[in-house]
Amino acid sequence: MKRIITLFAVLALIMSCAVFAGYGCKSGADKITTYTIECSLSGEVLTGSETVSFYNGTENSFTELKFNLFGNAFRSGAAYSPISSQYRARAYYNGVNYGDMTVSTVKDADGSPLAFEICGEDQNILSVALGKEVFPGETVKVTVDFTLKLAKVIARTGINRKAVNLANFYPILCGIEDGAFYECLYYANGDPFFSDCADYTVTLTADEKYVVAASGKVSDSVVNGGMRTSVYSAKNVRSFAFVLSDKFESVCDTSLGTEITYYFYDDAAPDKSLKAAVDSVRYFENTFGEYPYETFAVVQTEFVQGGMEFPSLVMISDSLEDKAYLEVTVHETAHQWWQTAVGNNEIKYGFLDEGLAEYSVVLFYENHPDYGYTRQSCVEAAEKTYKLFCSVYEKLFGGADTSMMRGLGEYSGEYEYVNIAYIKPTIMYDCLRETVGDNIFFKGLKRYYSEYKFKNADPYDLVGVFEKSGADTNGYFESFFDGKVIL
Ligand SMILES: [Zn+2]
Repeated sequence: MKRIITLFAVLALIMSCAVFAGYGCKSGADKITTYTIECSLSGEVLTGSETVSFYNGTENSFTELKFNLFGNAFRSGAAYSPISSQYRARAYYNGVNYGDMTVSTVKDADGSPLAFEICGEDQNILSVALGKEVFPGETVKVTVDFTLKLAKVIARTGINRKAVNLANFYPILCGIEDGAFYECLYYANGDPFFSDCADYTVTLTADEKYVVAASGKVSDSVVNGGMRTSVYSAKNVRSFAFVLSDKFESVCDTSLGTEITYYFYDDAAPDKSLKAAVDSVRYFENTFGEYPYETFAVVQTEFVQGGMEFPSLVMISDSLEDKAYLEVTVHETAHQWWQTAVGNNEIKYGFLDEGLAEYSVVLFYENHPDYGYTRQSCVEAAEKTYKLFCSVYEKLFGGADTSMMRGLGEYSGEYEYVNIAYIKPTIMYDCLRETVGDNIFFKGLKRYYSEYKFKNADPYDLVGVFEKSGADTNGYFESFFDGKVIL
């Protein structure tokens, strides 16, 4: 996600200071989890059925599967609401209302019902009893019938005034960490997601008036009785998302071999916006490694933060203008390398993908002077922002906790999170680059991408690739991670 620090955020902090709260993919036909989802959107309700073929790539056996029900966080009474108090008035444009996600049946491969329960700390988890043990290297298939009721809300999942943002629309297997399913709570702060890569085939039926942007390639499409049914596929993605709008126009570029499509409804210079995406993909491919998918959809929509990344699809807020709009486009595009391809537990280590996406923007600007920024101007702005944050916290609380190794629930709000997960790592990477030199620095980033593409990494994996690339980091990273370094 991209967040823009505004004076409002600082003021909100001063006034309220609300308290907030792997396994990788294996290539090969049978050694990856697959999702086959069929769903239909009618009004505010999406009904769906998914068959998930879970491949156990761990060394543990399982007798149950656990899925995140992110759509259920939009229900009335959720302890962890996706909408923070800071954004509540803007997000609920029509007054506060709710959605939810329900599960009606779960069946095994033979069609026999399986016992399941909705559990977790905040009714955020679907737990399915398999009735048998699934051993390492084995696959088990379950079919889940579900219903998602969409709230009228500007969020990752919801109906806004211009489009339907349809991310997290199905029960998704919890990511596996240390041999167990990791349950995600929907913190309003940051991006509270963690999943493993899988192959998807998704069939969506919706009103034919909609133009559909998707996390994958469309292979078939038919219209019947005013409804269009289209089949999409994507390989090695951590999730699958759509944005639907009857207002979308689109422009497309295939010059890089990837189908890059920009969907928009309010843009006086759509070619300029598309160019930012194409320039970003080209530069990041040359700098980090090949773009990992066949398609890339850059989608204008309503969003209260700057933007949000999903595999081969990014949402860009229509409230941004000019330079900020392009900057968010570059940032979200960088997430295709850092978060989508190289994954990480975003609840525990949000700074990993956010920091790299943010520093990737610095690298992009450094190499594209026509966008109006330089490396120096970006790093100086980061240092200034971070120093202001430290001085604000010094005045308010007698000091700032600058530790990066903490979960989303341990941040006091977005202002603190942005400074620790976005701004501080930008400074960290630039200092590292100054110290080890460009050769080792870029070797390290390329290595991080190639070694952890379609897998999940943790902060020590990041340190490891720089060490292996010839950097004697000697506690450098750790001093940033634990907050001991004084900037
Ligand atoms: Zn981001």
